[in-house]
Amino acid sequence: VSGTESTITPSVTPKRRLDVVAEYTRHQKTRETLNLVVVGHVDAGKSTLMGHLLYALGQVNERTMKKFERDAEKIGKGSFAYAWVLDETDEERSRGVTMDIATSAFATKNRRFTLLDAPGHRDFVPNMISGASRADVAILVVDASTGGFESGFDGNGQTREHAILIRSLGVRQLVVAVNKLDVVGWSEVRYAEISARLLDFLISCGYLRDDVRFAPVSGLKGTNLACRIEADSLPELASWYRDASDSSKTGPCLVDLLDTFTMPERPISKPFRLAVNDYFRGGSFSSANSVSVSGRIAQGNVQIGEHVVVIPGGERGSVKAIDVDFESQEWAVAGDSVVLMIQGLDIQHVSVGSVVCAIERPIRSVTRFEAQLVVFDPAVPITNGFPALLHMQSLNVPVVIHKIIETFDQRTGEVMKRRPRHIRKGATARVELVTETAVCLELFKDSKELGRIMLRKGGETIAAGIATLLK
Ligand code: GDP
Repeated sequence: VSGTESTITPSVTPKRRLDVVAEYTRHQKTRETLNLVVVGHVDAGKSTLMGHLLYALGQVNERTMKKFERDAEKIGKGSFAYAWVLDETDEERSRGVTMDIATSAFATKNRRFTLLDAPGHRDFVPNMISGASRADVAILVVDASTGGFESGFDGNGQTREHAILIRSLGVRQLVVAVNKLDVVGWSEVRYAEISARLLDFLISCGYLRDDVRFAPVSGLKGTNLACRIEADSLPELASWYRDASDSSKTGPCLVDLLDTFTMPERPISKPFRLAVNDYFRGGSFSSANSVSVSGRIAQGNVQIGEHVVVIPGGERGSVKAIDVDFESQEWAVAGDSVVLMIQGLDIQHVSVGSVVCAIERPIRSVTRFEAQLVVFDPAVPITNGFPALLHMQSLNVPVVIHKIIETFDQRTGEVMKRRPRHIRKGATARVELVTETAVCLELFKDSKELGRIMLRKGGETIAAGIATLLK
């Protein structure tokens, strides 16, 4: 009898042989990447600045840059050459506006960045949001030219709107590029005035003083972007812009400040979750009932041999192989983009938006939850019963705003109106949402990545928000 037992009890796949958290801690330095979004009023110079920065960091080869310069001269818009580094289509080039998110990667001494470019045109706010909703940190670009800062900051300017929006989507650390200072002769007074007004405003939106840094720059001329200025090459700036800890040196350049961003903590010890971006049968480990899933690990860690569960559905399987950035690995952690080959799964039970989880603590799937929303500019007012499309990670599901609970002041948190009939443009509200099919969701306080949502309607993003209560 005992012989029979021994053939059925032992599991052939060892479970969690490795202490992945300890492994990760040893490898940490080589793996860290920050998602960076660039925001600011239209024409503040975001595209020019980022294009020039990427060029200065050696991301754009000389030949391509020369071609952009020639093409820009041809249409009489020489200054657009750097902005084109980020643009993708001819249409964008001829219009001179950046239309979509261009993603690019670059590194500073201690940090790696994935750049999520955010265009500044008002019509393009929805594109900016999908970048911002993935951002860890941001560069806020402001135009320092006479009247330029004011038109982006006062009245209808987008400087305030963007700063509030990214803060409400969870961005805490910010570098402010005080741009186009070349236009005002590198005026210290102008720089100080703009920095002071902005700092006051940013603190009032919930940023901490120490998490906001300022740099005087010119994106067009490439001044103070990737390296500090030489004292004698630009005395107008060097005379007053000094290093706070060593006044014999000029002050930090934009890249120095990016390098000081602290890494948001990767939630690598939390229960494992991977939101499925894509999936296919088989994979490099070939077997009849194996499925490969790809996506970015939202939290926790995973290793070969581990048993996992797919939500919704509850189908189980075991991890046979792990690719991180196309290289085969023994383990992977939160923040890694991976392909997992899972054995024992029926492909029928996997879909885009499914979440692969640790067996003992799977994610919840719900059809009813509460969220805090920032409403943009919907074509019709949002009222109870308003239908939209819920967008999170790569998932799109029909949703109804079942109940508007209250609107409140985004800065102070004070309730403005309980049970309002509709939500105004620009308002922040707490609402109850009901989805057509179950969605996998976490509370934002538990998971930045799995707790952020967006609402779209008619191809436009009408609101962004965070999950606050699962029902
Ligand atoms: P975006 O809409 O924020 O992406 O702004 P762009 O990068 O397209 O720049 C808007 C305009 O400002 C363009 O004509 C640029 O050439 C100009 N510009 C951008 N940065 C600077 C700068 O540092 N100095 C000067 N003088 N002009 C700039």
